[in-house]
Amino acid sequence: MTSPSSKSTALDKLNSEIAADESLPLKAAATQAVPGEGNPDAEILFVGEAPGKDEDLQGRPFVGAAGKFLTELIESIGLKREDVYIANLLKHRPPGNRDPLPVEIAAYVPYLDQQVEIIKPKLIVTLGRYSMAHFLGEGLSITKIHGQPKRNQKGQIILPMYHPAAALYRGDLRPVLKSDFAKIPQVLKLIEERVAS
Ligand code: URA
Repeated sequence: MTSPSSKSTALDKLNSEIAADESLPLKAAATQAVPGEGNPDAEILFVGEAPGKDEDLQGRPFVGAAGKFLTELIESIGLKREDVYIANLLKHRPPGNRDPLPVEIAAYVPYLDQQVEIIKPKLIVTLGRYSMAHFLGEGLSITKIHGQPKRNQKGQIILPMYHPAAALYRGDLRPVLKSDFAKIPQVLKLIEERVAS
C-alpha cells in the first residue's frame, strides 16, 4: 500500500511533469498549470472540468466563484477543503473558458488517471458532464443520474453531480447540489462497510 508521504512525493513529481509537458495543447495560452490540490491521502476526489480565470492566475483549482460554492458544499458535510483532493480534467485554462475539445480532453486525462492511481480515493465525485463522461462513459444524462453512486468498468465508485458553476446561473440547482452532497457521508459509509465485509 502506498503510504501518505509517498503519495505526496508521487503527486509532487507528477505536478512537475505536468508543468514541464510542452505537448499539452493549452499550455501556450495559459498562465500556468493547475494540477490540483488537497490531501494526498484523501478518501474523496472531486474532479471538475478545467481551470477558469482565477484558477489560471493562482495556479489552484476552484478558487473563483464556483470554488467558493464548492468550498461551502464541502463544509456542509463537515469536511474542509484540506481533507479532500480537488482536481480537474484539464490542467490548463481553455481560452475564454470555452468548452474543452475532445482532443484536449484526450491529451490531459492520462494525468488525471495518474492522480487517481496515486491517491486511490474511495469515492470520485464528478462535477459536470465532461468529468462524468470521462469516468462513466458518453451518453449519460446528468439530469437523470446526478446524486446516484455508480461503479464503473474499472471498479471505481463514481458519484456524478452538477458543476457548482451551473448553480451560479441556475439558482434552482443550488438545493439540488446541496442534497446530492448530503449523500456523500452515507455513500462513503456503504463503501467502507462493503470493503470490511
Ligand atoms: N471550474 C472548474 O471546472 N474547475 C475549476 O478549477 C474552476 C472552475
